[in-house]
Amino acid sequence: MRILCFLFLLITATVFAQAPKKPTSSEIYHDLQKLNFIGSALYVAAHPDDENTRLISYLVNEVHANTAYLSLTRGDGGQNLIGPELRELLGVIRTEELLEARKIDGGQQFFTRANDFGYSKNPEETFEFWDREKVMADVVRAIRKFRPDIVINRFDHRSPGSTHGHHTASAILSVEAFDEAAQATKFPRSAAEFGTWQPQRLFFNTSWWFYGSKEKFEKADKSNHVSVEIGTFFPVLGLSNGEIAAMSRSKHKSQGFGSTGTRGSEKEYLELLKGVKPPDNDLFAGINTHWSRLEGGEEIGKILNPLEKNFNFKQPSAMLPQLLEAYPLISNLKDSHWREIKLKQLKQLIWECSGIFLEAVASENSVNPGEEYTVSVEATNRGNNRVVLTSITDPKGSILYNQSTELPYNIEEQFTLSKTANQLEPEYTSPYWLEEPGSVGMYNAPEALIGLPETPVQEQVILELQFGDITIPFTRNIIYKYNDPVEGEVYRPLAVLPEVTTVLPEKVMIFADNHSKKVSAAVRAGENNISGRLFLETPPGWTAQPAYYDFSLGHKGESETFQFELTPPAIQNEGVLRAVAKVGDINFSKELVTLQYAHIPHNTVLLPSAAKVVRLDIQKKGNNIGYINGAGDAIPESLKQIGYNVSTIDPAAISEESLQTFDAIVMGIRAYNTVPQLAFAQPYLNEYVNNGGTLIVQYNTNHALVTEDLAPYSLTLSRDRVTDEFSEVKFLDPKNPLLNTPNKITQKDFEGWVQERGLYFPNKWSKEFTPILGMHDKGDPQTKGSLLIAKYGKGYYIYTGLSFFRELPAGVPGAYRLFANMLSIGK
Ligand SMILES: [Zn+2]
Repeated sequence: MRILCFLFLLITATVFAQAPKKPTSSEIYHDLQKLNFIGSALYVAAHPDDENTRLISYLVNEVHANTAYLSLTRGDGGQNLIGPELRELLGVIRTEELLEARKIDGGQQFFTRANDFGYSKNPEETFEFWDREKVMADVVRAIRKFRPDIVINRFDHRSPGSTHGHHTASAILSVEAFDEAAQATKFPRSAAEFGTWQPQRLFFNTSWWFYGSKEKFEKADKSNHVSVEIGTFFPVLGLSNGEIAAMSRSKHKSQGFGSTGTRGSEKEYLELLKGVKPPDNDLFAGINTHWSRLEGGEEIGKILNPLEKNFNFKQPSAMLPQLLEAYPLISNLKDSHWREIKLKQLKQLIWECSGIFLEAVASENSVNPGEEYTVSVEATNRGNNRVVLTSITDPKGSILYNQSTELPYNIEEQFTLSKTANQLEPEYTSPYWLEEPGSVGMYNAPEALIGLPETPVQEQVILELQFGDITIPFTRNIIYKYNDPVEGEVYRPLAVLPEVTTVLPEKVMIFADNHSKKVSAAVRAGENNISGRLFLETPPGWTAQPAYYDFSLGHKGESETFQFELTPPAIQNEGVLRAVAKVGDINFSKELVTLQYAHIPHNTVLLPSAAKVVRLDIQKKGNNIGYINGAGDAIPESLKQIGYNVSTIDPAAISEESLQTFDAIVMGIRAYNTVPQLAFAQPYLNEYVNNGGTLIVQYNTNHALVTEDLAPYSLTLSRDRVTDEFSEVKFLDPKNPLLNTPNKITQKDFEGWVQERGLYFPNKWSKEFTPILGMHDKGDPQTKGSLLIAKYGKGYYIYTGLSFFRELPAGVPGAYRLFANMLSIGK
């Protein structure tokens, strides 16, 4: 029943993810308040979810400041609670979640090129992966472009090691950027593009959490703190600030951050780091945030300020004459920064007041660059003003419609136009930061796009509307929508996609010997009636049969799968296999991934159509492996790839007899945290070992274990971890069979590991255990608990916090060889 409800919610919400804003009078009034505030605030942290939505909502909705959140990363490194996407695809989901959160609290969203590569213990470790100079350049660029009066850091730059290294690093960079943004000699390219900028104040958004306890915070010296009452209730919106903040935070669904709104008084504390302490807890004190701040602004203020007082909630269009009067004045503002911001806000307000509905709908959900397609433009004038549509153009120049047409009162007007899809850079509707490969810690991005949350929409129209003697261009993204018999109106972005895409469904293929394997490759049409050849591009030493298949697909969206026979080389080797579709003279080798979630817009992502192929030099003993699933991992599939027969063991059915048939039994990650039945199964598992079996237990956290007895001898779990996947590994017991049979393990086997070495290692164990490996992160003492083995009766018990659950699915050869040794030890 719960599952059904959940699905229902998902579907319902999808309908609204892209729907156009249809503001009420109250919301129009709220937008007017924002128009009349001339000031900006920038919030800085490291990840999606770091941002304090209470403070952001307060700055937008109470102060009415132009507010943005600069998240240094897109959150690629975390877990995904709503689907299978990890790494860069998770980063795309979290980018969209941030954008949805900002739609609710009213802020804007920026990023840097820094990649959330995973956990780091301190900023020094972070800067080994992030290119400090480039990330710094991006923070400075964001400040120069956005020109905040105040900058607020989520984290403390003075306490490295007390939180995630990315967090402290974000604060360190922000503190430096606060000064460097004002110096033309620093990062001269963004200085030339946007000018230099000196924000007035820098704060650290502190709270009791940073002091360890509420009591310690009570007693702390707060002479340099500003406290802001943020518990505002907004009758115009019908919501309290805490309720808006919770709705915003609840968009972080991939992290499970659903949040319940609060009402009533609430305080935020900001410690002043730079600038003059503001009197009266007013963050913008002493900064002119009125129209008079701008040269030529006084006159605009005289027109726009009174509108708030005299706002007509029954008929917002009553203020249209004043808005139109201000339009040429704002268009002529000398200050180009504020001209651009205020013109955009004013145009939005003019459109909202006018009651005009504007929408451009494509005839299909995707087009190819250069393809001709049909766009239906609706322009319905529901206000009582005379409005003339003078033209519809493509932003790149071509005129689609140019007959002056008066939009009659409340008559639905449709214009059917033929349009050619633009051939732009970037060419396709796909995240720009994934176009070129980056490094572990950095994304690549074209200079012009750095900082942008998304790839700019390629397909748009500009509708010029004439109000009296003033003509205003309104830009609309071309969208796709359809009517669903159950859901009603469903919106999607129009995607510009390649003519053909390919896919290799298996992303990592392991070959344990030199036998060939069948490999599936599919080709998908991005346009009607397309034909060509599909072939596999193999790494040196690998061969694919047949050389190619001819394909011919009739309809856009149609796909066909072909089987190739892939033969590995005779010796250990790894490489990248690509699926390529040749159409005419052009090779297409991108895979199309679509992300469909209720709370974010439909997303298309183009990735290299590739798979990692690994020929292992591996020996193994034993065949039948029993697997007890924990929190979920792909180890069983990986073991099957190297030829093991893996069966899932139902933890409720564990008995002495049921385990007998297995050569080894493996516990999935966090099994002792997530499988309640294991509280009662341990005696059987111990007995299985006693009788000659091998039990391998992968990592568990020491919090909330279903039993303390997860081994035949005493073993204490800790939070020790080694996050640096390149850290040196010492062989503590070089003669141990785990390092020698059937595979001789050498340093080479610890090369190419991903993400980390391991986590939650035991730090105490009884004398029966032998520690096999020593390792540590820079500056930390050596850990010896990553791989422990003990003889018990006739069998072996192994506990390992090594991150096999990451390494095996990533096709890391050394991890396979070591795992095979663990499975083989009793044989
Ligand atoms: Zn964070």
